[in-house]
Parts: sequence; C-alpha cells; structure tokens
Amino acid sequence: MHPILLIAYTFVTLSVLMYVVILVLNVRRRFSPNLNKKRILFVTAHPDDECMFFGPAIVDMSQDCEIYLLCFSSGNFYKQGEVRKLELLACCKILGIPPDNVELLDISSLPDNPDVDWNVKILCQNIEHFSKHVDANAIFTFDKDGVSNHRNHKALYNAIRNLSSRPARPGFLGYYVLETVSIWRKYISLMDLPYSILSGKNYFISTPNSIIKAQKAMYAHWSQFVWFRVLYILFSRYMIINTFQEIKQT
Ligand SMILES: [Zn+2]
Repeated sequence: MHPILLIAYTFVTLSVLMYVVILVLNVRRRFSPNLNKKRILFVTAHPDDECMFFGPAIVDMSQDCEIYLLCFSSGNFYKQGEVRKLELLACCKILGIPPDNVELLDISSLPDNPDVDWNVKILCQNIEHFSKHVDANAIFTFDKDGVSNHRNHKALYNAIRNLSSRPARPGFLGYYVLETVSIWRKYISLMDLPYSILSGKNYFISTPNSIIKAQKAMYAHWSQFVWFRVLYILFSRYMIINTFQEIKQT
C-alpha cells in the first residue's frame, strides 16, 4: 500500500475506534465546571448559526439543561428575514430549545451584513439584559475568528470579552467561545476527533442520534438550502464535534 494511503487508513481507523470508545464509555462531554441542570444561553448572529456551528453542544445539553438562544438578526441579507424567523423556531424545536426560550432581535443598526461592524456597546447591553432576564449560568458564543470569519460573529466575541471584565452575577459560571479550527480540520468530520480530544479543551461529541437530529435541524432552514450545504452537513466537524475555550473573567 502507498505510504500516504496507509497513513490515511490508520488515521481513519484510529478516529472511528476513538469514537466507539467514547460512545461505549459515555464520555461524550468533557466540561469544567459541571453544567448539569444549569441555564445555558447561546448568543448567535444569524438564524442557522445555532445548528451549523453549535449543534453538538445544544443537543447534548438540552438533555439536562435549560437552553436559551439570543439571536441578533433575522438574517435579512437576502431579504428573507421573515421566513428565516419561522425557520429558526422550527430548528430550535428540533434541537431541544422551546420557542419561549428563543429571543430574536432585529435591530436596524445591527444588520446581517459581513461588511458591517456591529456596535459592541449595543451588543453588551442586550446580552446583559437577556442573560439577567433568564438568569443564565453560562454564556456560549463564537471565538475571535467566528468560525467563518464573519464580522457579525466576531463582534459577538468582542462583546463577550467586554462583558467578561464586569462583575459576575451570583451563580454565573462563565463565558465559553466555540473554537475556530483551520480549514484542514474543518471538513474532515470525525477524523478531527483525535486532535479535538487530545488538545485538552472542553468538548461535546454527538452520538449518531444527535448527529441525525442536528442534520434535521439544518433542513429546517430550507430557504438557505443550497447544494454546498449538503457537503457541509456531510463533512463539517461542527456537525459532530464542538470544542470550547473559556474566557477568563477579569
Ligand atoms: Zn452566522
């Protein structure tokens, strides 16, 4: 066998074996602190961010936590905002977020637009307000690269960094950001498992049932469905693996 094929075969076998061991030992979540029975707030920029990027974490935590979603735009870049609002609710229902726990803001100064820098002060005010309202124990959002480098995603990270320097409410555990991985890791699906696990970060790994649930949730955003989304569903590691870094509160 050609050496490159041999390396690829070894890597695939190692990843699949690791996945089976994780499922058998039921160690699909490694997270410190313990988030059991907590109120968890996800902050996103557009309808579909929740299932494209955060699916493994949301589906897993929806089993034992109360999940809330604060989405900062209706995704109206192509004038489909009204349809996308309904799609977001349908998607969240599949993921395990009740409609009453979903807050979709549509602030004119924060449009769905990759060329617009969202105002961090407005973001902080709204995140703080909603977080207090639902008494969130932890907040999850994008990291500094926003997975796809979208400016609206990166603005949410800047807001979280700002909030992390403020005094925390009693019972608040922390801010966690979704790790952006390189393009080489982004589309190798399960093959990213060894690195994700061994890198020592907080992680969520989906079961086969959870993967199917996240895929169904993706289909709820039917107005966004183009051929390359099928490839994304099949190959993106974000459909199976989420790794998070904590933003230290200062
Ligand atoms: Zn987005």
